[in-house]
Amino acid sequence: MDCIFCKIAKGEISSYKVYEDSKTLAFLDIAPVNNGHILVIPKKHYKNIEDISEEELYVAIKTVKKIGKALKKSLNILGYNVNINNNPIAGQIIPHIHFHIIPRYKNDGLKLWKQGKYKNKEIEKIQNKIQKYFNNK
Ligand code: 5GP
Ligand code: ZN
Repeated sequence: MDCIFCKIAKGEISSYKVYEDSKTLAFLDIAPVNNGHILVIPKKHYKNIEDISEEELYVAIKTVKKIGKALKKSLNILGYNVNINNNPIAGQIIPHIHFHIIPRYKNDGLKLWKQGKYKNKEIEKIQNKIQKYFNNK
C-alpha cells in the first residue's frame, strides 16, 4: 500500500523517531505547529478512528499518554493538545490514523476553535437526532 505512515513505520522512509514499541511509533511531525509536535501511529494501517479496533486504539492511546508525560519532562512544558483529524473534512490529509501531540508554550499564539451559539431549539434538535441514533441501535 502506498501509505507514507506505513512506510515510516517500516523504516522505508526516515523519520525523527522518539519512541517505538511493537505496535506503535512516535515521531516528530515534519511541519510542526509548535516545536516538539509529535505524531503517534499504530504500526498497522487503519484509516481512522472508525476503522481501528478498540484494542489497537487502546494500545495507541497508551503511547500518547507516555509521550505526553515525556514531553512535559523533556521539553519543560506545562501542557499539550492531543488531536485526531478524522476524515478529510476535519483536516485529515494522511489516511493512516495518527494522534497529534502539540506542546503548548506561553504566548504561542495558537488559537483553537471558533465557537458559536445555538439558535432557537437547535441544541435540542441535535441532541434528539443523536439520542435517536443510540435508541435505534
Ligand atoms: P493530518 O492533517 O493528516 O492530520 O496530519 C498529517 C501530518 O503529517 C501533518 O501535520 C504533516 O506535517 C505530517 N507529515 C506529512 N508527511 C510527513 C512526513 O513525511 N514525515 C513526517 N514526520 N510528518 C509528515
Ligand atoms: Zn498506512
